[in-house]
Amino acid sequence: MKKILVAGGGGFIGGHLAIDLLKQGHEVVVADKKPLSEWYQVTEGVTNLVLDLQYLENCHTAVEGVDEVFNLAADMGGMGFIENNKALCMLSVLINTHLLQAANDADVTRYFYASSACVYNGDKQTDADNPGLKEEDAYPALAEDGYGWEKLFSERMCRHFREDYGLTTRVARFHNVYGPYGTWDGGREKAPAAMCRKVLEAQKSGDMKIEIWGDGEQTRSFMYIDECVEGIQKIMYSDVIEPLNLGSDEMVSINTLVSYVEEIADVKLERSHDLNAPLGVRGRNSDNDLIKKLLGWAPSYPLKDGMKKTYDWIKGEMDRNAESL
Ligand code: NAD
Repeated sequence: MKKILVAGGGGFIGGHLAIDLLKQGHEVVVADKKPLSEWYQVTEGVTNLVLDLQYLENCHTAVEGVDEVFNLAADMGGMGFIENNKALCMLSVLINTHLLQAANDADVTRYFYASSACVYNGDKQTDADNPGLKEEDAYPALAEDGYGWEKLFSERMCRHFREDYGLTTRVARFHNVYGPYGTWDGGREKAPAAMCRKVLEAQKSGDMKIEIWGDGEQTRSFMYIDECVEGIQKIMYSDVIEPLNLGSDEMVSINTLVSYVEEIADVKLERSHDLNAPLGVRGRNSDNDLIKKLLGWAPSYPLKDGMKKTYDWIKGEMDRNAESL
């Protein structure tokens, strides 16, 4: 069994990954800059370090004695957050840069970097009926301003540490990930959690309305968290050196996503559209041909089933918050 660092494990995906690695019998270290009380999941049996990994010396502390690193630490959020915090998102470049340096100094054997579909060229995402983004569509580069450029740069940094220093690096480009223990309020949440929360708030208040950003015809695909955790490890332990898509190819419009949540909640809400809200690209989907060819696997969990689990979890959180008031 190995000693494994999950950077950013106080957050959504890293928290789930840390638990899965622990279950497999590994020694797990989690590092995150948030105070422990704000971590989404704090797991017994894991070594928890509160460290700001933008600093090289903290990265050295985090990788001490570690065999492998999963880097999931970044300042990120939904479209509303990344469009209004471009400099902050780009500063995450310090995390990956210093973590790569520290991992290389510590002779770490494998290093995983969590990239994003936001690296893809915007010109390939102008149609809601997106045929699916292939890995080659990242170049010529026209990434999402701020957040996407940082991801693209950090992907290349991983590549050059592999080429120049022999550090084994693996990169996945996540397409929207959702599920329990994700961000669901506060401004950094993504569409699936935001829609669940809005539908629950409407029921709670009795004001049976919902506001949707844009005309709602913009499209995305959403990957359930369990498949993300599985895919991360498949990619990490593969011999695939180039970045791979890790996402669902079940593309839906945001209007359809809202209909799914209404179905789950058994309600019908009056819809309004905020046409001035941050929207991101018009259409985005994952093309999974390459991951299927190279790994014989791709995410396939139905969106409706994952949304039901997410809705139930957010409902539980809102009930719990209401009780503690
Ligand atoms: P998250 O915000 O829940 O988790 C990220 C964690 O990183 C947070 O807990 C945060 O405190 C921590 N962090 C930020 N700056 C740090 C620093 N300087 N030092 C230490 N920790 C720091 O996000 P997530 O959804 O779990 O995303 C994990 C990774 O996956 C991120 O790199 C993100 O960009 C990428 N990603 C996520 C999605 C998605 O849909 N969730 C999509 C594409 C890519």
